Amino acid sequence: MTIFNFSAGPAVLPRPVLEQAQAELIDWHGSGMSVMEMSHRGPEFQSIIDEALADLRELMNIPSNYQILFLQGGAQGQFSAVPLNLIGATGKADYVNTGHWSTLAMKEAARFGQVNEVCSSADSRFDHIPAFSEWKLSKDASYVHYTPNETVGGLEFQWVPEVGDVPLVADMSSNILSREIDVSKFGLIYAGAQKNIGPSGLTLVIVRDDLIGKSLPITPVTYDYKKYADAGSMYNTPSTYGIYLAGLVFKWLKAQGGVAAMEAINVEKSNLLYHYLNDCGGFYYSPIAEADRSRMNVVFRLKDEALDAAFLKESKAAGLLQLKGHKIAGGMRASIYNAMPVEGVQALLSFMKDFAQRNG
Ligand code: PLP
Repeated sequence: MTIFNFSAGPAVLPRPVLEQAQAELIDWHGSGMSVMEMSHRGPEFQSIIDEALADLRELMNIPSNYQILFLQGGAQGQFSAVPLNLIGATGKADYVNTGHWSTLAMKEAARFGQVNEVCSSADSRFDHIPAFSEWKLSKDASYVHYTPNETVGGLEFQWVPEVGDVPLVADMSSNILSREIDVSKFGLIYAGAQKNIGPSGLTLVIVRDDLIGKSLPITPVTYDYKKYADAGSMYNTPSTYGIYLAGLVFKWLKAQGGVAAMEAINVEKSNLLYHYLNDCGGFYYSPIAEADRSRMNVVFRLKDEALDAAFLKESKAAGLLQLKGHKIAGGMRASIYNAMPVEGVQALLSFMKDFAQRNG
């Protein structure tokens, strides 16, 4: 039986990447060392990180006035690091609240300065993204923070907010590299690696040069962008194996045709599920406004919640793993990141149709 894993994260990695890592596990390129056993100061690891950086810069078309940092502490570490490094400009920051992760980011930032909630859809259980015309941006924010893809709720921005000269900061943990973006529209992009990049434990930050070096005096040294930019991400020992695996994922992405090719596949995969949810006669439904549905995390519910347990048990038996929604959201969630092949989505669709037929 072919297994398809719909975990929201840590998520499935491309099979060829795991196979290459397995082949190189004990002896990397004849060096006599595993990547896990190499000094991060040695030429072997330097070549690994240099190649990963160059490939990511090419894949995302990252302009030369942006630094790419490989950090630790996860995306939630950046909930602290972003305000610690950026809020000092005016002491204030704007936060767009579209769900679980943006709420947490906003709460953490409020520990370091004045936070303005620009908009929120909490009153309707975060079932849509508030229209830009409703946003109350402040005049003197150091930055505007938003979450382009809400992993728990299953919402995704299909547009990039135009916030003028104020740096735009995005938590792209769950949709980075899944669609083409113009990096120059952002002041800072961050992402935990564990969905579209590699294993957990690695955190990616892409930050414009002029935003580096302005941290609050209380900033812990391991969260100070300048320290890491100056040290080529190696102020302390980085997540070496995580960077190596991320590098293999970047190579795999390039071989697939890059981000544009990946985006086309992601549109196809998510459409398969959303079209069915619209057309299935109400047995399943999406709680999210049609225009704001995520391509990465397809959240859906069964009309009869009493069938949830049977759906999960039978889907697991059919090799379709980890479809349970986040504990605060309930229902189901099929996370279909870059490494999920179209066949996985087709298998899920067949199962859903069959289950509906038997229980409808
Ligand atoms: N932000 C988003 C959008 C996420 O999906 C997640 C994790 O799933 C996080 C933040 C938290 O990431 P971490 O566990 O790396 O701190």
